[in-house]
Amino acid sequence: MSDKFLMPTYNRQPVTFERGEGCWLYDDKGNAYLDGIAGIAVCNLGHCHPAITHAITEQAGKLVHTSNLYRISAQEKLATLLCSTANMENVFFSNSGAEANEAAIKLARLYGHKKNIDNPTIIVMEGAFHGRTMATLSATGNRKVQAGFEPLLSGFARAPWNDLDAIKKIIASNHNVVAILLEPIQGEGGVNPLRKGFLNELRALCDSHELLLMLDEIQTGNGRTGTYFAYQQENILPDVVTTAKGLGNGFPIGACLTSGRASALFGPGSHGSTYGGNPLGCSTALAVVETLTNGVIDAVNKRGELLRASLREAFSDTDMVIEVRGQGLINAVQFDRPCTALVGLCRERGLLINVTAESVVRLIPPLVINAKEIALLVERLKDAVVAFQNEQEAA
Ligand SMILES: *Cc1c(COP(=O)(O)O)cnc(C)c1O
Repeated sequence: MSDKFLMPTYNRQPVTFERGEGCWLYDDKGNAYLDGIAGIAVCNLGHCHPAITHAITEQAGKLVHTSNLYRISAQEKLATLLCSTANMENVFFSNSGAEANEAAIKLARLYGHKKNIDNPTIIVMEGAFHGRTMATLSATGNRKVQAGFEPLLSGFARAPWNDLDAIKKIIASNHNVVAILLEPIQGEGGVNPLRKGFLNELRALCDSHELLLMLDEIQTGNGRTGTYFAYQQENILPDVVTTAKGLGNGFPIGACLTSGRASALFGPGSHGSTYGGNPLGCSTALAVVETLTNGVIDAVNKRGELLRASLREAFSDTDMVIEVRGQGLINAVQFDRPCTALVGLCRERGLLINVTAESVVRLIPPLVINAKEIALLVERLKDAVVAFQNEQEAA
């Protein structure tokens, strides 16, 4: 085997997985790994969940794809279930998160033009991650994602994270603002939460200025924070919410949901996707949403609390650990220094983790992780951190 024909867009770790079950992955040498990443917050139901495998294989044997030139019953069923779960009105299905955000950005621009704003501007946040397409990388608040791809798309204004006054100032000085796009908890940016009440205040601000509140729940959606969407823990509805990742449990599908004034913007011909919402993708996602909402999400808060409590206990006397934070099962251990070395140290100990924003261990395991597996995760992470400390002291 060789990877020389692949464009080197990733620094891949030297391991190849062959099989997965629940929270466990098995490599081609038969080694078992506890999965603390879930394919980057994708496999929320764990690997090869029987209900999802069944949905995929059954639909694959019946009908895979027809295109959106025709009605698709699985798409209509998924739309009905997702909208009622999210308390939203309409949905557009895409094949990825970035594409779901593309739809949201196009909606905001349509909304602006409808209001006779010729240069509609969307307020986005520092540290945000919205994807790798030209529009979504322009919306992203990370220079590394943008560098080399200029000219960026215009029509974005950036505010510091968690700073309502800064957003108010932009609105006051820029009459082209039509929407605000943000993640309820920044994922790639380092598991950064919003202060309590922020989304409520933002909702009121958007209402008084007739702006669209657009939430990127690509990572926080599908049960990750303890409710189907994170905004359901605040007493608000967004105008637009996007999701992907956990929606297909590994099958590529994304969604852009709308309510109220954001719902009547697209018409026939104004947006589309060849694959988006096809029978195979929608049958899979239908099984995912049904399984998630049939008890799986109810346990997420308790498991998250147990994980954070165990992490805090394990690292109470570790100076280089500054903070343990998170909500539901998107959690972080914040280090006082770059800690990417922990990825390899953990893998050698049979644990898969991710380091984001250089110094943040991001833990986004399958939502079905049990108490025993949480204890094992913390034990292996602690062991790796001790080794990391010894390396640092020796250097
Ligand atoms: C992963 C992610 C995206 C991009 O999703 P893709 O499916 O990789 O295009 C966008 N926004 C957020 C918050 C994400 O976590």
